[in-house]
Amino acid sequence: MQWPDLPTAQRPSWPQDGSLERVRETLASYPPLVFAGECDVLRSRLADAARGEAFLLQGGDCAEMFDSATADNIRDRVKTILQMAAVLTYGASTPVIKMGRIAGQYAKPRSKDTETRGDVTLPAYRGDMVNDFAFSPEARRPDPDRLARAYHTSSATLNLVRAFTTGGFADLRHVHEWNRGFIANSAYARYETTARDIDRAMRFMDACGADFDAMRTVEFFASHEALLLDYEQPLTRIDSRTGNPYATSGHFVWVGERTRQLDGAHLDYVSRIHNPVGVKLGPNVDPDEVLRIIDKVDPDREPGRLTFITRMGAQTVRDALPPVVEKVTASGAKVVWVSDPMHGNTFESSTGYKTREFDDVVEEVRGFFEVHQSLGTIPGGIHVELTGNDVTECLGGSEKILDADLEKRYETACDPRLNHQQSLELSFLVAEMLSQ
Ligand code: PEP
Ligand code: MN
Repeated sequence: MQWPDLPTAQRPSWPQDGSLERVRETLASYPPLVFAGECDVLRSRLADAARGEAFLLQGGDCAEMFDSATADNIRDRVKTILQMAAVLTYGASTPVIKMGRIAGQYAKPRSKDTETRGDVTLPAYRGDMVNDFAFSPEARRPDPDRLARAYHTSSATLNLVRAFTTGGFADLRHVHEWNRGFIANSAYARYETTARDIDRAMRFMDACGADFDAMRTVEFFASHEALLLDYEQPLTRIDSRTGNPYATSGHFVWVGERTRQLDGAHLDYVSRIHNPVGVKLGPNVDPDEVLRIIDKVDPDREPGRLTFITRMGAQTVRDALPPVVEKVTASGAKVVWVSDPMHGNTFESSTGYKTREFDDVVEEVRGFFEVHQSLGTIPGGIHVELTGNDVTECLGGSEKILDADLEKRYETACDPRLNHQQSLELSFLVAEMLSQ
């Protein structure tokens, strides 16, 4: 496929020795990671979310790392998402669409091209798909072979995710038992009522003869930011059923806040593929620009095609979101509105770590729900950075992670993630918001 030569924000300075072109050819020869038919299923699920008949839970690492793609890490992330989804399903009384930031989330946009430590300045880390996190000139040099490694690691990850979600691990009865274990900790006594209600609902279903064996498998979708078009373009394939191009690197891809220029390569790319796609919207977005994004990416106003992932900040969401939602609603476009309560709430702790406060995360979601409630529009889902591990990267939560705790297990390569407990706690709080 030929791609127009458009300005491409955040493109790494690849070596000019032909290695990038060779890797692109190799990627183009590899099998797709997902099937176009699965992307179509997801689009119809997202159309349900746009109507309030489903709720999207999208979560995972800010930046996946090759060395972290271990069985245990993948299992624990999937487990966390399944546990959250069970709680949200109860709160929303609708199906929850489960989607990982997983199996492809290997590239990061950076605000600065370089990083300085002491008197040494080196190229910024741009994700394992580009360079290495270690702070040395060799590690930070962009290496096109990493694009192929990202493909293989994504392939292995997705294979295990599919095994977990269809092979019995996702059985609702197990997920429910895990959630009972979480609530047994007295720190979470506040959620006991909801937990007891879910327990009663499970027993009611059982008494009615519900077929729990049919609930041993779940649909699980993979998503990542379509940041590196040198990875996405060679993995874009024509669907033999329809003749339409699809990104086959994941079911859903999104364009980030730093790369959504109307005349840029990223929006052009997602406008050409037929997957459901997302666009992030920050607090300074111009509502008229949002309408032009819709015209470009979703000219046919196809249900489920376009998701706006808003990341406004806890203090800003109630002012910045309404004008955008009003304008889009008045235009007649039907999009999925999703809250990313992470990226507008990042700050540096007194101990020098990039962090987020659990209460701010909750507050942004609360503001998001309030705005949609007052406008009569639909809050369609949440997008969170999380891990299944007991890291200490975000402050607060009922286990009260303090500034001084951050150094204990601060493991992220980029933005701070909610740990397993904070993620579950968030799901209980959002379930309460959904059921009000
Ligand atoms: C991200 O999702 O990790 C990210 C960089 O988000 P945003 O584009 O919203 O800043
Ligand atoms: Mn991030």
